Amino acid sequence: MASMLVAEDLSAVGGISLSAAVPVLAAFDYQVAALPTSLLSTHTSGYGRPAILSLADWLPQVFEHWTVAQLQFQQALIGYVGSVELCDLLTAYLRDAQLQLIVVDPVLGDLGKLYAGFDAAYVDAMRRMLTVADVILPNVTEASLLTGVPYQAEPDLARLLTELQQQLKLGAHAIMTGVTQADQIGCAWLVDGQVQFVGQPRLAGHYNGTGDALAAVLAGLLGQGRDLAMSIQLANQWLQAAVAATLALPDHDERQGIQLRPILRAILALDPA
Ligand code: ATP
Ligand code: MG
Repeated sequence: MASMLVAEDLSAVGGISLSAAVPVLAAFDYQVAALPTSLLSTHTSGYGRPAILSLADWLPQVFEHWTVAQLQFQQALIGYVGSVELCDLLTAYLRDAQLQLIVVDPVLGDLGKLYAGFDAAYVDAMRRMLTVADVILPNVTEASLLTGVPYQAEPDLARLLTELQQQLKLGAHAIMTGVTQADQIGCAWLVDGQVQFVGQPRLAGHYNGTGDALAAVLAGLLGQGRDLAMSIQLANQWLQAAVAATLALPDHDERQGIQLRPILRAILALDPA
């Protein structure tokens, strides 16, 4: 059984980020080390101001203990981190940990803007983390923040992806998420300098936790050694099914994350890698 460290925020209510990543990775049969980077009473979209506990004092103690206990993980998935200090702490840990796969979702912003509480110094800290990653999953906003290319909803993908690749180590992959092409939403990446796109029809509405779920699914598929293009294709199909199931709920609370059941079912039905 492979082990995966998952570091991102834990929102008690809302069904996104760490709460969504753990079941997805458990379905892939990972032993999951679930490391919250901060604790929130709810996620930040639609419930008013959550009670937030920073874990900045606790995380260094966690890494110290893991070193003493000689705990090692094979793979890692990093989502929302929250501060320059924690970002650098995680980067240092990842650099030394000799992992087979490091997937980083550089959570910084959406719709052309940085999330509240983040600044240029945080973007720089995220750039430092990218240098240790094998796969990064920025959305269009994050790609523009990380490269300094001004934000456009329908950007020059070749330029953004080329500039992102230059920030990564050799052999690593930048995969842009939430990319819109005509009526489709999906992912874009480069193969031999050529932009590849895989998408699915965009369904009406906005959903919480789609990016987090996509990151967990891709980490799971790639961590099993599956082909990049095939993994992206499957991840987009499954996300679309999850969004469709969410849309079909008669009593859907739109603050809640997406329905994970279609994703879990698809993972359990996979042929062995
Ligand atoms: P993050 O904010 O975590 O960086 P992100 O902004 O890229 O992630 P989304 O834009 O929410 O995340 O999209 C992630 C994936 O979820 C998309 O690539 C797509 O597969 C799926 N998805 C998101 N919204 C929809 C939608 N309305 N209809 C169909 N699929 C969707
Ligand atoms: Mg998003």
